[in-house]
Amino acid sequence: MTDRQQLIVNNVDANKQMIFDAERWLWAHPQTGFTEWEANEYLTEKFESLGYELTQAGNIPGFYTEIDTGKPGPTLVIMGELDALDISNHPESVNGMTHCCGHHAQGAALLGVAAALKAPGALDGLCGKIRLMMVPAEEMIQLGFREQLRNDGVIHFFSGKIELMRRGFYDGADIAVMVHGGSSNPNDPVDFTCNSGNNGCIMKTVKFKGKSSHAGGAPHLGINAQYAAMLGMQAANDLRETFQEKDMIRFHPVAMGVNCAVNIIPDEFILESHVRAKTIAAIEVENKKLNRAMAGAALAMGAGVEISDRPGHSPAYHDPAYMKLIEQCCKDLVGDDKVVFDYQAWQTGTSDFGDVTQIMPGVQFTCMGATGTVHGIDYQVADANRLCANSAKAQLFVAEALLGNEAAAAKEIIANYKPAYPSAKALIDTVNRLIMDKDAVVYDENGNAVIDFQNA
Ligand SMILES: [Zn+2]
Ligand SMILES: [Zn+2]
Repeated sequence: MTDRQQLIVNNVDANKQMIFDAERWLWAHPQTGFTEWEANEYLTEKFESLGYELTQAGNIPGFYTEIDTGKPGPTLVIMGELDALDISNHPESVNGMTHCCGHHAQGAALLGVAAALKAPGALDGLCGKIRLMMVPAEEMIQLGFREQLRNDGVIHFFSGKIELMRRGFYDGADIAVMVHGGSSNPNDPVDFTCNSGNNGCIMKTVKFKGKSSHAGGAPHLGINAQYAAMLGMQAANDLRETFQEKDMIRFHPVAMGVNCAVNIIPDEFILESHVRAKTIAAIEVENKKLNRAMAGAALAMGAGVEISDRPGHSPAYHDPAYMKLIEQCCKDLVGDDKVVFDYQAWQTGTSDFGDVTQIMPGVQFTCMGATGTVHGIDYQVADANRLCANSAKAQLFVAEALLGNEAAAAKEIIANYKPAYPSAKALIDTVNRLIMDKDAVVYDENGNAVIDFQNA
């Protein structure tokens, strides 16, 4: 460990109680995406009491502050997420919600980063700027609520990072880092892990439209929307063998409830799903086939179907050179044997951190300290020191490695990175193309149908 790294460790340790208090407070105040006002207010107050001036998103939770080292150089964004999940049967759920993805620990860690950067000498030898950002709504849930926010003009995108990107929160930024909490057996010594990236997704809502009638006495007068949906799911399942392994497609429709009683033919049946893949291009190809399956199923039953597609998360690509730098930082902090970075492994889940990596080098790595199942009812924080304090130290080590030494490492990574899109606007223009609302099967007076299930 260098003297500078030892200073970082000391600066975080000096603020440990504040970090641990924040972890417990945020755990006890979980709120889902775009409603995380309590966490936003708590962290705002803490950041301001450290002397930071914040730029708030305003009509949604989320804020950033920027620390200028006083010397020219790249801008590094360090992020924390605000949102919890609906999981009412978690034993510690509050109003049906829990931080069973551990995002609350990110807020506590970022507060530790902010406090440590205020310590005397913390910025010595660094150049460029550090932007600390709290981001809402990473979890892609509650599509109906977000659609309402969209219709009300509050948001345009369903997830926090690209929504903040649209609002200019990433303007002028050059490189990004984030730490997500991980869960492991408390006896497992590994502290930090990372893989090469993860899938992206779009969000799909499929509403099958039938006709109600007496289910026993007059089913011939009805059109069964539930059966149409089941046919659609069968067709989608049969299409799975056409998915190519290289694309890592994941399609997992969930029925969102039937508008009916047991003696009524269901006249409406709603499916929601993500369509996930390794590239935006693969998402577009397979999504078209799945939409065709839904339209075909509706037609077979004489039903209608409304298909709504919304941009979800972009795929995340972790730059290997940047991963190497972070891997070394983690090893400097906890020792070589507690760090496992896999440069081949790919995750099929998604995160809106992917949107960031589409326009600048970014790595999201994992810091252990929780137990149980992520997104599960047994998820608990086992060791806040590992989960939050280690995370803060590691992120500060990364800032030091990137922005010290005239920011030579950051400049090299940025110069060699080939982002998929040259700007936030270019990315936003592309994902906007995924937005679709179609009445996919429309019948004429003779019962013939016009099928329309794809974007122009
Ligand atoms: Zn999650
Ligand atoms: Zn998460």
